[in-house]
Amino acid sequence: MPIIYLDHAATTPVLPAAAQAALAAMTQDFGNPSSLHSLGTAAAKAVTAQREDIASALGCRGEEVYFTSCGTEGDNWAVALAVHLGRHKGKHIITTAIEHSAVLEPCRALEREGYAVTYLRPDAQGRVSLAELEAALRPDTVLVSMMLVNNETGSIQPVAETAHLLRQKKSPALLHSDAVQGFLKIPFTPKDLGVDLLTISGHKVGAPKGIGALYIRAGLQVQPLLRGGGQERGLRSGTEATAQIAAFAWAAKEGAEKLAEHQTYVQALKDYALETLPQTVPGLVVVAPGDAPHICAVSLPGYPSQVVVRYLSDKGICLSSGSACHKGKASHVYAAMKLSKAVRDGMLRLSFAPSNTREEIDALALALTQASRELVSMGR
Ligand code: PLP
Repeated sequence: MPIIYLDHAATTPVLPAAAQAALAAMTQDFGNPSSLHSLGTAAAKAVTAQREDIASALGCRGEEVYFTSCGTEGDNWAVALAVHLGRHKGKHIITTAIEHSAVLEPCRALEREGYAVTYLRPDAQGRVSLAELEAALRPDTVLVSMMLVNNETGSIQPVAETAHLLRQKKSPALLHSDAVQGFLKIPFTPKDLGVDLLTISGHKVGAPKGIGALYIRAGLQVQPLLRGGGQERGLRSGTEATAQIAAFAWAAKEGAEKLAEHQTYVQALKDYALETLPQTVPGLVVVAPGDAPHICAVSLPGYPSQVVVRYLSDKGICLSSGSACHKGKASHVYAAMKLSKAVRDGMLRLSFAPSNTREEIDALALALTQASRELVSMGR
């Protein structure tokens, strides 16, 4: 049975050429970048060039890109380094109630250590407001962490406006943005956004799992995350993941070149889904059309999403009821949006890639229509 994959925000397949780049880095150009012999220096040169590729896709300088093992590591590191840098200035953090757990959990841990954390609540579309941020800002705020694109609604958050506000208020707070779902999906640069720290992850853009990067604005005096051999300019020791980095660089280069084309295609596909699904599937409602082109959230009120996700999966259609990390647990994002219980329980997140087609959306519409009939006849 051919699989229809509509869960690209959870992860997306590795691009074949990126996989080839990884294979070459593992089997031919396998040197340790710290070795002094020819294979080592070749590997070091390759990593330098690949860092530049990622920097140019992101719109920053190579020396501002620090490789990590994933987006989670980048988020954890950003929160830790910001509070460390601000340790003599205050103990207040502002974030949003709809962040990924990779930001929320470090914030909760800091609360247990005596930090005060303000969690900005979103509106019904999943966007936080600048006015609430302004009201929450305190002289002792040392970090504002606000994601760029929400992974469960596709809503875009006012990151650039936040940077502007922080400057206007002469706030000492550092600004971090988790841009894992924004990178290569919408155009931005860390400089345009005005952030100090920004997280990206490889497996959302056609690279393998196990690689990410943290943008650290040049000039920030940062504590090392891992101490050891001094890789990543002394901030994150550990032999570079040369295969994943090679693939990440390839995917980033390709993604940056095709960003505008992909954005237009995926947006048109999503628009088609948002038009077709409510027309075809009895009872289906669009909850968040999503500002970013590739993510939206719909609901089949009265039909528990886990049951629907399994039903669709049996028909070869993969999508999710929210963030993959929740493993089916209730989503804190949909809870924060104050949706009715029936709508919340029936939530389905759709996330698209350029490989998806209108025929796949039609197949989804048909399968959801069948679900609405059969699951009712099963006596919901
Ligand atoms: N932040 C967001 C918004 C995400 O969607 C994800 C992954 O789902 C992460 C962080 C974590 O990234 P990784 O899976 O690379 O740890």
